[in-house]
Amino acid sequence: MEIQRKSDKMFLINVVRTFFSFALRWLRGLYGYYFDAFVLDELIFSITDTCNFRCRTCFYASTMDTRKANGSHELSLGEIKKISSSIGSIKNLLISGGEPFLRDDLPEICEIFYQQNNICHIHLPSNGFYTHKIINYTRAILNKCPNIHLTIGLSLDGHQTTHEMIKNVKGCFDNTVETAKSLADLKNEFDNLELYIITVVTNTNMNEIINLGEFVKNNLPVDGHGPSPLRGIPYDKTVSAPLYKDWHEFAMKFIPYHYYWAKKNNAIKSLSFIATNRIRYLYGVYTRVLKGRKLPFKCQAGNTIGVLEPNGDVKFCELDDAIGNVRSTNYDFKKIWLSGKANNKRKQTRQCSCTHACFLTPSIARSLPASVKSFFCFTMAKP
Ligand code: SF4
Ligand code: SF4
Repeated sequence: MEIQRKSDKMFLINVVRTFFSFALRWLRGLYGYYFDAFVLDELIFSITDTCNFRCRTCFYASTMDTRKANGSHELSLGEIKKISSSIGSIKNLLISGGEPFLRDDLPEICEIFYQQNNICHIHLPSNGFYTHKIINYTRAILNKCPNIHLTIGLSLDGHQTTHEMIKNVKGCFDNTVETAKSLADLKNEFDNLELYIITVVTNTNMNEIINLGEFVKNNLPVDGHGPSPLRGIPYDKTVSAPLYKDWHEFAMKFIPYHYYWAKKNNAIKSLSFIATNRIRYLYGVYTRVLKGRKLPFKCQAGNTIGVLEPNGDVKFCELDDAIGNVRSTNYDFKKIWLSGKANNKRKQTRQCSCTHACFLTPSIARSLPASVKSFFCFTMAKP
C-alpha cells in the first residue's frame, strides 16, 4: 500500500515536471521563431567526412565522396574550441559523421563541449564496425565528461544478409553485434551510458524489421531499438522510403516492442505508457509525411536545432544547403545563425516536412499541442 502510494506520488511529480518542461521549451521555441533570437538547444555536429562504409541508405555518402575528391579539410580541435566558445549553453550534442569513431580526437571534441557549453546529453550514432576503437573512445568520453548522459546508437538494418547488402560491407553484422555486447559490459562501469539499436526502414528491408525487433529483444543487451523511415536522398537511388500504408501496418505491429523497452527502462508502469504514446504519435507523424502531408507542428531546424559540418559549414538541417561557414566569420557560429541570409531561410523552413527522426522528436517536444497529443496518444492515427 505504502509502495503504491509512493509510486503514485512519483508518477504525479513526473507528470507535472514533464508538463512544465514542455511548456518552458515551447515558450523558448516560440521566442526564437518570432524574435529571430539565438535559442539553440541542440547541435548536430558532423565531425568527419570519413566513413569505412558506403551504405545504400546514406544521405551523406555523396557529400563525403565529393569532399574527399576536393580535398576538403576537417575542422581542427583548435577551430572547434573557438566555435564552441561562440555558441554558449546548449543542452544536447549529437555527434555524427561519417563514422564519428574514426576521428581519433573524438573524446577531446566531446570534452570541449562538456566544458564550454554545459551540455548534459551526447548522442553518438555509429556503424559499430571498429569494436575496440568504439569501446576505448567511449570509455575516454565517459572519463572526460563524468556527468554527461551518453547515448550510443548502433546501426542494424536487418538480419545478416540484408544488413550487409545495405551496408555493402561483408562481416559487418557480426562486428556490430560484438560491439553492442562489449558496450553493454561497459555499462556495468558507467551507469550514464545508454545503448540503442537504430534501423533505417526502406522498401528493401521492410519485411524483416519485426523479426529483427524480436532478435534485438532476445539477443542484444541494449536499452532500446528505434526503427525510423529513410530520410533524404539515398546513395543508392533504387532504395526508397516505405509506402505510407506499409509503414502504418509495420508501426501497428512494432509498437508493442517499444512498450517492452519502455517497461524495461521505467520502474513506474504509467511512465512506460506515456513513453510508448509518444512513439505512437511520432510513428503516426511518419505515416502522415510518407503520405505526402505536412508536419502537424513546426520543424525546429534553424530555431533550436542547428548543424555544423566537418568543413565548417553551418546548416539549419542536414538535408539542406549551408547558410555560411564558420571559417569566414572567425569561428563565430552566432554571426552566421543570426545573419540576414539565415533569417530569410528560417521563413522557408517553417513550411517544410520530412521523416528525419533527429529533428522530429525535439520538434514535438517544442510544440505544446504536439506534446499534449503525443502524451495522450493511446491509439495509432488512421492513415
Ligand atoms: S549511414 Fe553512416 S555508416 Fe553508412 S555511409 Fe553514411 S555515415 Fe557511413
Ligand atoms: S522538416 Fe526540418 S529536418 Fe526535415 S527537411 Fe525540413 S527543415 Fe530539414
